[in-house]
Amino acid sequence: MDYERLFTVAETARKPKKLSTADATFVKTTIPKDLADYPKWKRPAKIKHPAGFSVSGAPVGTFIRSALLMAGRKALGGRYGGSPFYEQVEKDVSFGIMRSHFHNDYPKGAYCCQQCTLAVYPLLEAGALRYFDNKALAKNVRRLIDEGGWRFATAPNAKMLDWSLGA
Ligand SMILES: [Zn+2]
Repeated sequence: MDYERLFTVAETARKPKKLSTADATFVKTTIPKDLADYPKWKRPAKIKHPAGFSVSGAPVGTFIRSALLMAGRKALGGRYGGSPFYEQVEKDVSFGIMRSHFHNDYPKGAYCCQQCTLAVYPLLEAGALRYFDNKALAKNVRRLIDEGGWRFATAPNAKMLDWSLGA
């Protein structure tokens, strides 16, 4: 699985322009094949994000899922074109957000930690998750970031924050 390409394609997917045919095929066909073991797939221990920051440990999985959904929406359409692979990823991310709130009593829209919350924020902004009111959750997360609430009492990595906010 070419993660570097995934993250590059996901960056393109956030912009108004279309994906190249080769990138669209990569997203539609290659990725679901390469990650056929998902959700138990063997993920890298560390990733270098094209936006200039590195991620290691548990948040790697969240950044990968976030990139998959950004790229998947662009290549397949708003509801992932009914692709079982991308719909599973969408479900996993959404249930993660719900569990954090209803199970752990975290603020609405937050994920397990600061980095994972920054990883999923662009999805909320984009309305990528069908299971809840993305805009309301995005607003709530934005408030946490701006006011230094919850895990944001510690300032995030500046490049990661800029990437998350689309700055
Ligand atoms: Zn986390």
